[in-house]
Amino acid sequence: MDIFGIKGLLICALIFIPFEHLFAERPQKILRNGLGVDLIYMLFNGLVIKAVVVLIAANTLEAAAMLVPQSVTHAIGGQPIWLQVAEIIVITDIGVYWAHRAFHEIPALWKFHAVHHGIEELDWLGAFHSHPVDSIITKAISLTPIFFLGFSEASIAVFSVIYFWHTLLVHSNLRIPFGPLKWLIASPQFHRWHHANQREAYDKNFAGQLPFLDVVFGTYNATGNKVPEKYGVDDPVPSSYFGQIGYPLLRRRKRSNRVVPESKG
Ligand SMILES: [Zn+2]
Ligand SMILES: [Zn+2]
Repeated sequence: MDIFGIKGLLICALIFIPFEHLFAERPQKILRNGLGVDLIYMLFNGLVIKAVVVLIAANTLEAAAMLVPQSVTHAIGGQPIWLQVAEIIVITDIGVYWAHRAFHEIPALWKFHAVHHGIEELDWLGAFHSHPVDSIITKAISLTPIFFLGFSEASIAVFSVIYFWHTLLVHSNLRIPFGPLKWLIASPQFHRWHHANQREAYDKNFAGQLPFLDVVFGTYNATGNKVPEKYGVDDPVPSSYFGQIGYPLLRRRKRSNRVVPESKG
């Protein structure tokens, strides 16, 4: 049984590696720095996160059965699938937006999220590079309402596939012009500016899939066609997998440059 999702990894690699080679935003080697650590994230975190999502679903469905009237869950789960998927994307992305913003603004949470921002060479595989505490809290906040409200299994399955590929796409090193769609659908350009280690990019572009949420909540970074000078963080995030897992839990003297109040704006 392919519990680590090796088959999925190979399919993603076969699609993204050639495209990133042909349409690269920045010159970057396939065997880039941090590739081995990102592979470990992909294999182990994927497993932990799947288990946690199953737990969230089971508990929420049980609570919903007691608290939400069946007329409500039936009405929601009975809508056309495309409409349910659109609603799920909006609801989950509002959750992603605020969870993500909290991870930036609350110093104790930032240490977990700094691990994701530690990526210095960004490509599709960087999508998996998150501390498990970061991924689990974000999933719990964004997915609980979906299970609670009674969206159908089929629409949740379609959403999961869209979300998975979209997350890989926004982390990819691809140059794809989105035109006016850039306000509606998060592009690699939108998310790479979230990863830029440049002051004007700090605490901007929090949405996962819907950039207009950043416009609504006042955190959109309009960057035009510029490419970030560098990615990463100034925090002393270790380079090894276990170093990164332990990093938020260890006391350190150096404070993050990103959580001082003047970084806002
Ligand atoms: Zn972030
Ligand atoms: Zn990211």
